Amino acid sequence: MTRGAAFVVQHGLLTVGLSVGLASAALAAYHRPLARRLLHLFLFFILLELFYRFAYGGPVSSGLLLSVPETSKRETVELLAGHVILTCSLSLVALLAIYAMVGSWNTNIRLPVRRIIQMGIVSASMVAASLAIGASGVDGPRRMAAVMLPEAEATFPLDVVNAFGAVAIDFVDTRRRAAARAVFEFRGVTLVDHESRRSASEVYVVVIGETSRRENWSLFGYTRATTPRLDAIRDSLVLFGHVSSNATNTILSLPLALTRAAPATRGVARSEKSIVTLFKQAGFATFWLSNQERSVLSNPIARIAAEADHVWFTGGGFDSELVGELGEEMARIPEGGKAVIFLHMEGSHFGYVARYPASFDHFRDGQGAPRQLPERQSRLVDEYDNTVYFTDHNVRAVIDKLAQCHCRSGLVFFSDHGERLFDNGLTDNDFGHGFPTISRQEIEIPFFVWMSSAYQEANPGRIEQLRANAGSVAQLHNLFETLVDLAGVDYHDRASSLSLFSDKFRSPLELDVLNMDQDTVAFDVAGPP
Ligand SMILES: [Zn+2]
Repeated sequence: MTRGAAFVVQHGLLTVGLSVGLASAALAAYHRPLARRLLHLFLFFILLELFYRFAYGGPVSSGLLLSVPETSKRETVELLAGHVILTCSLSLVALLAIYAMVGSWNTNIRLPVRRIIQMGIVSASMVAASLAIGASGVDGPRRMAAVMLPEAEATFPLDVVNAFGAVAIDFVDTRRRAAARAVFEFRGVTLVDHESRRSASEVYVVVIGETSRRENWSLFGYTRATTPRLDAIRDSLVLFGHVSSNATNTILSLPLALTRAAPATRGVARSEKSIVTLFKQAGFATFWLSNQERSVLSNPIARIAAEADHVWFTGGGFDSELVGELGEEMARIPEGGKAVIFLHMEGSHFGYVARYPASFDHFRDGQGAPRQLPERQSRLVDEYDNTVYFTDHNVRAVIDKLAQCHCRSGLVFFSDHGERLFDNGLTDNDFGHGFPTISRQEIEIPFFVWMSSAYQEANPGRIEQLRANAGSVAQLHNLFETLVDLAGVDYHDRASSLSLFSDKFRSPLELDVLNMDQDTVAFDVAGPP
């Protein structure tokens, strides 16, 4: 038996063995309401597990569980529709299971003790066989534990238990640090050169893109002209072509971009406030305008948004609504006023086709696409490229508004993470993000800065300072100090060498990325394969 086959058999035995054991234990106590509920919950997790296994090829993770409540109804429906055969099959399984459950409930079914003992023996022998296969070729119990524990943790239903455990630890830690965070303030915050800036109007905009991968931006070399409006002003942008995110989903990535936390110190995002508060302390009016779903639960991104003076959510339309609202907010900024505006887009999140109006249905029938793909994949790439085409339109509209206001202004655009899009040949069905293993396209993101001419006149040499680092490798945890410099703020214990404006900035020797289990994975600067 090959190593791969042994692995599959071992996992299969463990999964089925544990599932049979748990199910028979629950059935044995089925007359108790709690056991009944647990069994129903167990069935729900079987479906979640199967969906994730088939669509993403891996176990349920804490990063996935954390993002479930953040996923809006429309995104869920779109995701399920994107995996239509899988969803239909699983729905059928679920219906049959519910039918059987209700039937057994009504007839008050009781399994005979003999049958339960039989199931228990089957379960125990399957688990034992799995352990025996895992143990073969591994000497010593400690080595065996080291080899088998991570594998067992990735096996259903232990992966679900493990992921819930990690979410619970997160929750407790967030609660424990909440008091410190509530009173947190950055120390010694000042506006650099504040005397000369007293009468100057200043607006800084941070555009948070969603699921935008760098590879599909013509601004960064894609052969389809997906970003013509930004391409046209390319010379006035400072492009960073080697920036990657620190995680592969929104909820894990953005706290690392907007607070002082890095993957190795992610707890900092729970005990400290974000860049929004730093700007507030420096005297800026702060705005959080979002086209994402307003979270019903407290989560890291909702907490960051809530730090802003003005929080506004669209009704779930197109990202262009953000541009309209930005214009209205800018019109209200008084002469000499200072504002920082965060725009949180829905960008290129699946379902792609729902992210842009019909007038932006520009790329069709795979025409001009750099890769030949099967029909369905080709259509999804067309739709994805249309989302980038629409993002290009919106970001350019924001820049035009800033240019018209004749104020000192600057804009940073980045995406929270990238996306897989059938990157490994004709038989690759993988699209989406937040996979158990990290791919290059899931973390490579577009990142650029624009500065108004009034800003450049007031801050001579600024753009050259930034351009000097444009060839560098960087990650989103460099954003915090970069924004501090862009807005001309200072505070005590700055880590200013992390800023892309700093002449002390150095490309890292490796990339640190949080995987969906929230473990830090280090990659060579070239990134994952
Ligand atoms: Zn995201």
